[in-house]
Amino acid sequence: MTEKIRTRFAPSPTGFLHIGGARTALFSWLFARHNGGEFVLRIEDTDQVRSTDESTKAILDAMTWLGLTWDEGPYFQAQRVDLHREMVQKLITEGKAYYCTCTAEELEANRKQALATGKKPKYDGKCRNKNLTKSAGSVVRFRGVDTGITIVEDLIKGNITFNNEELDDLIIERGDGYPTYNFAVVVDDALMNITHVIRGDDHVNNTPRQILMYQALGFTVPKFAHVPMILGSDKARLSKRHGATSVMAYKEMGFLPEAVVNYLVRLSWAHGDQEIFSLSELIELFALDAVGKSPAVFNPEKLLWLNAHYIKESSPERLMEEMKPLWPADAKTDDAAFTKKIIVDLQPRVKTLVEMATMANFYFADQVQYEEQAAQKFLVPDVTAYLQTMVAVIPAVENFSKDGIEEFLKAFTQERDIKFKVIAQPLRVALTGKTVSPGIDEVMVTLGKDRVVRRINAAIAYIEKNISS
Ligand code: GLU
Repeated sequence: MTEKIRTRFAPSPTGFLHIGGARTALFSWLFARHNGGEFVLRIEDTDQVRSTDESTKAILDAMTWLGLTWDEGPYFQAQRVDLHREMVQKLITEGKAYYCTCTAEELEANRKQALATGKKPKYDGKCRNKNLTKSAGSVVRFRGVDTGITIVEDLIKGNITFNNEELDDLIIERGDGYPTYNFAVVVDDALMNITHVIRGDDHVNNTPRQILMYQALGFTVPKFAHVPMILGSDKARLSKRHGATSVMAYKEMGFLPEAVVNYLVRLSWAHGDQEIFSLSELIELFALDAVGKSPAVFNPEKLLWLNAHYIKESSPERLMEEMKPLWPADAKTDDAAFTKKIIVDLQPRVKTLVEMATMANFYFADQVQYEEQAAQKFLVPDVTAYLQTMVAVIPAVENFSKDGIEEFLKAFTQERDIKFKVIAQPLRVALTGKTVSPGIDEVMVTLGKDRVVRRINAAIAYIEKNISS
């Protein structure tokens, strides 16, 4: 029987879910789903000072929003500390770990000396063979291996060889009795039967140390895959300088989760030159050997392009839900049919849902706010007569659909022997306040006869008031 593939995502709850973390989680999740395996979520909260419940919640919310469902967990590492301590004791008993009482000053002095003599700083092994017992503030160190090499057989990067002698005697239990990351991660991944550790490549140098600990504890070493990092356009590591790095900031900016997922996966993974992938397609196609080795560059334009695509393809019903928290506070969205029509008009035209909310303002307005230049140029006495006639005849237009309105406008201009543009912009400004909007016919259908008539009347009143003042 082949073993069941199990992957995990193991964030430290010390902040929001970062774009880079989300991509790591996504790869881990896709690998599990592709292989019919299981995906485990473990919150690594043993850093008592920096871990917060708000961060845990923020991470879970972001995972849920992206659709990265977990089969097990969330486990909380801090609740497993007894288990970690038990394993530490086992190593001490077997002579594979030892208590160390070196002070911070001593360690610093050692480090300085090593640097001064051109050596790599490394713990000097002072307490290695002292057989110390636990004392206040003492730490536990893992007894490293002095000879030989450790090879990390990375599924993305290939084999990476480390000299054991360069690996420090790592602290595995701190003075406060809490395990360090490198130890807890090994114990938990082993006991949770994780078969594939997929994580950011900032952990590559930890991996040989972890492999030695797996071996010391008698655990099977899992397979490793280190995902390359994400850079900003200036090739520096992606940070706030490059724009939002929190996944949920993208939700707030009006991105759809499938656009973010599609974007993140394409950052380091390719399948021919295909750009658009549904989640089920990704599950079907995802493979670690198609993940690139070199860092990926974050490109906000491409994310916007994908978002525009997914907004266009979404059902209006879905977008109605998504838009609920985004409409301006004063938008009257209780008329569902009207709101839906607005969405249908706008969804092919916007890149984000926030843009949709802004663009939709004029539909909901009781009184259209005219852009100053637009009004100055187009709401002028010359057009009053046309607008007046239009108001008079529109109530009688029977077919108030896109086609019907197109026909009506055509007849209107032909009868008066004027070009369409003579009335197009004044009408647009009267209805929307702007010179750029969805097609006039679409806007008229969506607004409906009553609003159209009211708005044209308001524009006439505006022109007349300007003349008299
Ligand atoms: N808690 C670690 C981190 O957030 C996990 C690293 C790992 O996946 O092993 O960086």
